[in-house]
Amino acid sequence: MTEIMIQTTHSTDSAISSESILDMYASMGIDRNVYNYGAKVLGDLEERFRQIDEIAEYNQLKVIKAMQECQVSEACLLGTTGYGYDDLGRDTLEKVYAKVFHTEDALVRPQITCGTHALALALMSNLRPGDEVLSPVGKPYDTLEEVIGIRPSKGSLAEYGITYRQVDLLTDGSFDYEGIEKALNDRTRLVTIQRSKGYQTRPTLSVAQIGALIAFIKERKPEVICMVDNCYGEFVEIMEPGDVGADMVVGSLIKNPGGGLAPIGGYIAGRTDCVENAAYRLTSPGLGKEVGASLGILKDFYQGLFLAPVVTASALKGAVFAANLYERLGFDVIPTGSESRHDIIQAITFHQPESVIAFCQGIQAAAPVDSHVVPQAADMPGYDSQVIMAAGAFVSGSSIELSADAPIRPPYAVYFQGGLTWQHAKAGILKTLQFLVDKGLVEKKQLKCSNL
Ligand SMILES: *Cc1c(COP(=O)(O)O)cnc(C)c1O
Repeated sequence: MTEIMIQTTHSTDSAISSESILDMYASMGIDRNVYNYGAKVLGDLEERFRQIDEIAEYNQLKVIKAMQECQVSEACLLGTTGYGYDDLGRDTLEKVYAKVFHTEDALVRPQITCGTHALALALMSNLRPGDEVLSPVGKPYDTLEEVIGIRPSKGSLAEYGITYRQVDLLTDGSFDYEGIEKALNDRTRLVTIQRSKGYQTRPTLSVAQIGALIAFIKERKPEVICMVDNCYGEFVEIMEPGDVGADMVVGSLIKNPGGGLAPIGGYIAGRTDCVENAAYRLTSPGLGKEVGASLGILKDFYQGLFLAPVVTASALKGAVFAANLYERLGFDVIPTGSESRHDIIQAITFHQPESVIAFCQGIQAAAPVDSHVVPQAADMPGYDSQVIMAAGAFVSGSSIELSADAPIRPPYAVYFQGGLTWQHAKAGILKTLQFLVDKGLVEKKQLKCSNL
């Protein structure tokens, strides 16, 4: 403690001595050689981090401006109970979301239980029997397979006579425009575009790419509804899908836009008629957006959105750091260390189960909550192999908080995301490397000579 204070007054570069920080890491179980290896990797990332901060700065201002223009007041932070008529905070928050995502309207509710629910709601409320949904970007996120009925499920769109068509991306990751043109037909009512790769190996789409795809589709079929699954993509760029013609932009509040504070919730931002349909489906025909008490959580929704640009930047820095660190150790990483980013997910392929398990255990050991728990691979409903998950989160299941998961099957890739603060993400990644070194899965000598 004294050392920290002395150093603060005497040094202009560094507020504390490198020994203090090394001692602190050592007390957290991270060795000097692991720390130093991380420091060398970080040395080359200054420019990347500067760019991430620039985007966060822009988006921070965008959120503040929206809150100011909507006249968010102290009264908005309170909640209603019961029916929730005239809930000022809820109605104002929806205006703020519409401004941030540049859409006509938005539905932002704690009654939307998660991202899958928000997507299902957007789909079911805007489709009618006989309509067809088209995914021009390949297979959608796992949980949507049951919503659509790709995997038969109770209550799926398929049960209501809504059909589904899919056009895969070409092998180089680009759109199959010819295939898309052929797939569009008289019944195509809605096109669903997933921004993030989710847990697949295809590239994540940039907002500009999504814009080009929407333009192509609207040229051929102007009345079709273009919906974007925006999960994990919010605030990664300065544009959002609403800026490039999306009719609905949909996501989860326990990912990026909740800023780690929202304890539940989802959003649908979009065209007035689309949002209206969703509201009538969420509550009831005739009631729509007018009911739905916000209870006591609006302050967390507002404050989470306020923090979201910076939280997303922290998660992005973590992803970039992990990509570069593991790439230099010789592992395959998606995206690569130098690629531009359109979401916060980082995949690292280890080619052996022990490393995947060690990685997840390292993430868990660095958590503020449940750090004493050791995650194990186990069978999970809905998965065809064992799965391991690491999450020591304040909000259960929140993946904007530092987390990792992996199916235990070849090629033994781990998916890593989140970090409410960059400092936590950094410590977590160093901890994963420490675990790999301790278990002999990365050799100590690699830390000295790996491509640096
Ligand atoms: C997380 C996610 C979902 C589903 O959200 P949940 O909150 O887990 O239900 C859908 N699509 C994508 C791309 C996601 O990343």
